[in-house]
Amino acid sequence: MTSRVDVDLAARALDLDAVDPLAAHRDAFVDAPGVVAYLDGNSLGRPLRATAARLQEFVAGEWGSGLIRSWERSWMDEPMRLGDELGRVVLGAGEGRTVIGDSTTVLLYKAARAAVAARPGRGRIVTDTANFPTDRFLLQGVAAELGLTITLLEPPADGGVTVADVEGALGEDVALVLLSAVAFRSAHLADVPGITAAVHAAGALVVWDLSHAAGAVPLALDADDVDLAVGCSYKYLNGGPGAPAFLYCAERLQDELRQPVQGWMGSAEPFVMGERYEPAAGMRRWLSGTPPIVGMLPIAGMLALLDSVGMDAVRAKSQALTAYVIEYADARLAPAGVRLASPRDPAVRGSHVTLDHPDFEALVPRLQERGVIPDFRRPDGLRVGLSPLSTSFAEVHAGLEAVRDALGA
Ligand SMILES: *Cc1c(COP(=O)(O)O)cnc(C)c1O
Repeated sequence: MTSRVDVDLAARALDLDAVDPLAAHRDAFVDAPGVVAYLDGNSLGRPLRATAARLQEFVAGEWGSGLIRSWERSWMDEPMRLGDELGRVVLGAGEGRTVIGDSTTVLLYKAARAAVAARPGRGRIVTDTANFPTDRFLLQGVAAELGLTITLLEPPADGGVTVADVEGALGEDVALVLLSAVAFRSAHLADVPGITAAVHAAGALVVWDLSHAAGAVPLALDADDVDLAVGCSYKYLNGGPGAPAFLYCAERLQDELRQPVQGWMGSAEPFVMGERYEPAAGMRRWLSGTPPIVGMLPIAGMLALLDSVGMDAVRAKSQALTAYVIEYADARLAPAGVRLASPRDPAVRGSHVTLDHPDFEALVPRLQERGVIPDFRRPDGLRVGLSPLSTSFAEVHAGLEAVRDALGA
């Protein structure tokens, strides 16, 4: 039976697509045959069509023809050059503060380890129970190595850590606070400048994990006086599986901090092959081994697209998409017992929406078979990821209809 609400929600999706200034950019992404709704761009962004051509060109050109000479010609500087581009387009960071490097996990480790070393005598690290597993795990390793303790904040399931929560945990013994700007489960968007200021007032350093924020939410790392930040580039930056992550370090800390994985590529003169490690000047010192040049190519294409569109427009569409999911869930899924596990206030919501229902663990594989691809997060969350440049409202509507159908609602 088709109700009035169904007609309205379907028509609204079409209307929203019709007035969406970014709608045409969907065609820039590779089509996935059989996929009705891709709602997992927050775990793995779709590839740009241009990426295939760029990779081919690279194999024939810089790699195939340039061979080893390309290190001198461009590759040596690429981690910093692309880092600057990312800083300008996405992070709100001036030149010389961002580098593209290892995996997110490894860069988070480097940042956290360097931060605690810069606050000797302080025995505590603060993070939260809702932080991504890798963040908590690597902090457990750092704490075990140095005999530190970890204070775990416990935010509500549909929210995140607040300034007051952090202030309540701070003290003269805290060396480091490590939090996610956008929580991977609830999508709660933290008060980055507020928390950063509170951490500084207590004399500690903050590392922000931007994995679920970069490319979806406008950031202002310089203006917010952030110390260190690390993020993923295969989510909203569409870099592809295992694409190298990025690290930002405030200019004022660059000479002071020592990262723990001292490799030749981050040393002052890699080709002198000298006796002792001396860190390179600037952001190069955050590198360790040979940088993953091939993995950087897709990121460059996505940054060019984000630059042409602007992060404010991306944020506006992201908020419209998440609002539409909540509108649909309130009208059509709540009666079947589905609960919203993300903030209702768009100002503190990132670019995904988590919906909870005890049947979702069983239903998600069945949805995937039908070409509807969200993901599942324990204990009972269906995560609807809304990558602004590659997702249409009609696609979201089709995906949510399949969810409703699977629930028998
Ligand atoms: C995706 C994600 C990571 C991923 O780390 P990898 O080293 O790339 O596997 C880390 N932290 C957060 C918050 C994430 O969302």
